[in-house]
Amino acid sequence: MSRNAESTAFRSALEVIRAVEPRVADAIGAELTDQRESLKLIASENYASPATLLAMGNWFSDKYAEGTVGRRFYAGCQNVDTVEALAAEHARELFGAAHAYVQPHSGIDANLVAFWAVLADRVESPALKKAQVRQVNDLTEADWFALRRELGNQRMLGMSLDAGGHLTHGFRPNISGKMFDQRSYGTDPATGLIDYDRVAEAAREFKPLILVGGYSAYPRKVNFRILREIADSVGATFMVDMAHFAGLVAGKVFTGDFDPVPHAHIVTTTTHKSLRGPRGGMVLCQPELADQVDRGCPMVLGGPLPHVMAAKAVALAEARRPDFADYAQRIVDNARALAEGLLSRGATLVTGGTDNHLVLIDVSGYGLTGRQAEQALLDSGIVTNRNSVPQDPNGAWYTSGIRVGTPALTTRGLGTAEMDQTAELIHTVLTQTTAGANADGTPSKAKYTLDAGLADKIARQATDLLATYPLYPGIDLS
Ligand SMILES: *Cc1c(COP(=O)(O)O)cnc(C)c1O
Repeated sequence: MSRNAESTAFRSALEVIRAVEPRVADAIGAELTDQRESLKLIASENYASPATLLAMGNWFSDKYAEGTVGRRFYAGCQNVDTVEALAAEHARELFGAAHAYVQPHSGIDANLVAFWAVLADRVESPALKKAQVRQVNDLTEADWFALRRELGNQRMLGMSLDAGGHLTHGFRPNISGKMFDQRSYGTDPATGLIDYDRVAEAAREFKPLILVGGYSAYPRKVNFRILREIADSVGATFMVDMAHFAGLVAGKVFTGDFDPVPHAHIVTTTTHKSLRGPRGGMVLCQPELADQVDRGCPMVLGGPLPHVMAAKAVALAEARRPDFADYAQRIVDNARALAEGLLSRGATLVTGGTDNHLVLIDVSGYGLTGRQAEQALLDSGIVTNRNSVPQDPNGAWYTSGIRVGTPALTTRGLGTAEMDQTAELIHTVLTQTTAGANADGTPSKAKYTLDAGLADKIARQATDLLATYPLYPGIDLS
C-alpha cells in the first residue's frame, strides 16, 4: 500500500467534513498538529495506526447490534457479526484466552461487565436464581427485596488508589466502592512494592468475593500466580484489570507468572493504551463466566459500537504480528532508560525504577506538588499527568507525583538515547521551577514560577527531539 493512500484518505475525509462544519475539520487538523508537536509522556495514551483510525469512520456506526454474534435483538447484523467474531478471534489467539467479549466501550465499562458477571455467577441468592430461570414477572416484591440485599454488600479487595490501583477497584467515590463492601491493599512503605504476604493476610481476614489485581500507576511487574493462589485460598474470584499493560502482555514481555490471562478467572482491559488500538474495552474470561460476560449488553452496556469493534479487529490483527512484540520490548527498554536518566540526575522514583512502561517521579524532592510540576512541564512542551504517590500528603488533587510512560513515544520511534535526553529536559524544568505562595504568605500547592525563556527553550528542544521521528509519516494534510 502506498503511503499516499493514507494522505488521500484523510485529506478526502476532511474535505467532506469541511463542507458541512469547517470548524470541526479545522479542529481535527489542529489536533494532528498538536499531537505531532508535543512530547507525549502520558502513560495511558498512544497513537493508533491509520488503518485502525479509518476502520472507525464509516457506516458500521449506523447499526444497532444488541446481543452477541448470531444472537441479536436486531435484524441485519451479518456484517457486524463478521467484525465482532474477527475481533474476538484475534483477541483469543493473541492472549491465549478461552473467551473474549469485545463490546465494552471503555475500560470502566469492561469492569462493570466483569463485576456483574462475577456477581451473577457467584452470589448465593435464591431470588437471583429465580430471576434467571423464571419470567421476571413471577417474582414477588419480597423476592426483589431479597435479590437486592443479596447482591449488595459483596466484598471486593483491590489495590488502593494511592498505591497505583484504579478508581474502579473499590475506591469509595466510585460506584465500585459503594456497591461493594471494599478493602484495599497497598504497597510496602519501605520498598514501594506489593507485599504479597500482606495481601494474603487481608484476604484471609476479609474473605472477598473478588480479588482485583492490576493498576494504573504501579511501575513494576505483578506476580499473578501468587495472587491467584491467594484468591484460591479464600475462595475468591480473581479478576485482573490489565488496561495499562495489555500491550506488554500481547507483545510477550509479560509471560509466565506475570501474564494475567492463564491465572485470572476474568481479565478486563482497555484497547487504546499500550495495546495501541481504538478507544474501547474488552473482557477475557474462563469458559464458566462466558455466558454472563456475553450478557454485558444490554445488562450493563449501551448498544455495541460496531465501527469500534471493526477497529479492534484491525488493531488486534496488528498486535499479532511479530513487529508488535518488538514494539512492546522497546516500550519497556525506553521506560528503563528514562528511569535511569532521571535517577542519575538525582530524581526520586517510586520503587526506585520500573519494569513496565511507566515511571512515577516523586516531585516532592524538587520542592513541588504534582500539580505545579505537571503545569511547568506542560509550559515546556512536555505532556505528563500528575499522580498520587503512596501515602501522598497532598491528596489526589494536588498530588506529589508525576507519571510518565513510554508507549506513545515508542510508537513514534524514539529510543533509549532520546529517553535520556527526555530525562534531562524533565529534570531541568523541575529544578528550575519554584513553588509559589498564597496572598497570606503560606505555600501554594498550585502556584509556581518558571522563567518563560527557559520554558520556550525546553519546548524547542522537545520539538527538535521529535523532528527525527515524525508522527503519522504517511499523512500529509497540506
Ligand atoms: C485507564 C484504566 C481504566 C479505564 O479505562 P477507560 O477506557 O478510561 O474507561 C480502567 N482500569 C484501569 C486499570 C485503567 O488504567
